[in-house]
Amino acid sequence: IKTIGVLTSGGDAPGMNAAIRAVVREALGKGLKVKGIKRGYAGLLQEEIVDMEVRSVSDTIQRGGTILQTARCKEFTTAEGQQKGAEICRKHGIDGVIVIGGDGSFRGAQKLAGLGINTIGLPGTIDLDIACTDYTIGFDTAVNTAMEAIDKVRDTSTSHERCSIIEVMGRGAGYIALWTGIANGAEDILLPERYDYDEQKLVNHIIENRKRGKQHHIIINAEGIGHSSSMAKRIEAATGIETRATILGHMQRGGSPTCKDRVYASIMGAYAVDLLCKGATNRVVAYRGGEFVDFDIDEALAMKKDISEYQFEVCKNLSI
Ligand code: ATP
Repeated sequence: IKTIGVLTSGGDAPGMNAAIRAVVREALGKGLKVKGIKRGYAGLLQEEIVDMEVRSVSDTIQRGGTILQTARCKEFTTAEGQQKGAEICRKHGIDGVIVIGGDGSFRGAQKLAGLGINTIGLPGTIDLDIACTDYTIGFDTAVNTAMEAIDKVRDTSTSHERCSIIEVMGRGAGYIALWTGIANGAEDILLPERYDYDEQKLVNHIIENRKRGKQHHIIINAEGIGHSSSMAKRIEAATGIETRATILGHMQRGGSPTCKDRVYASIMGAYAVDLLCKGATNRVVAYRGGEFVDFDIDEALAMKKDISEYQFEVCKNLSI
């Protein structure tokens, strides 16, 4: 390996810059060249490729977003697009690519690997929805941002004795909802993995809690369930308790990364370069059982994970 390319793809996540910085500096330190590929696979196909030097990543570790920017790219899901991507890599002398993104981005990396470009994936998503790893770059920051926002909604919710439905991100996964559910002491959490669509149960729970002297009722609603505003209207009508919906939205994706996201992303970035130097390809870096490890991408994509039943029960049992 002589030249490494690095790109960020799919949704952005705080800590991606720390990972890019680590890739650039670990690789330069090992005497390799580094090229930054802008806007994910879309930028690769447009040849938006820039040389990265030690100073290209100065003053970035504390910044949210991604300095390389990110995109979704339909063309790269086609065989022709992938072929073109591999040819562009070869044209620029890129013999290894580090892809920071989610499962979709790893599928792209898998295709590039099949075309002779060595690839390593780094799990970058606020959703924590990558099965092979207990940690994804950005989750810690996002869940802390959501927690602080929910604390603020709770203050006003208690003052007005309201019921609040707070919608958090996570796409089809309920990890942000579960973690904030525990951290914010929510009365109910609605997770795509566990939701039984029984709104009457929710209504009964709100009425019971009010009778038992609770001054507010916080419902954390995962994005995968959606419709928080219409749910609020129905709950208000059924309970007679003023109910408001707050959709936290993209604020959860931004902001300065937490210490954990900076440290883990830095270690994963360096780890990915070390893997490429050892001749590895089609691998994804993960954090599992307290250690940084790596898996074959095919194997990683075939894995499944689910919300812990025990943690879900803890959340419910502590909100009495
Ligand atoms: P997140 O969903 O967490 O934001 P992601 O990486 O899963 O991240 P996707 O939009 O699924 O996000 O994928 C990002 C990009 O990866 C796509 O726009 C596409 O360019 C590429 N990609 C996705 N699936 C494939 C595939 N099967 N083959 C080749 N490339 C793919």
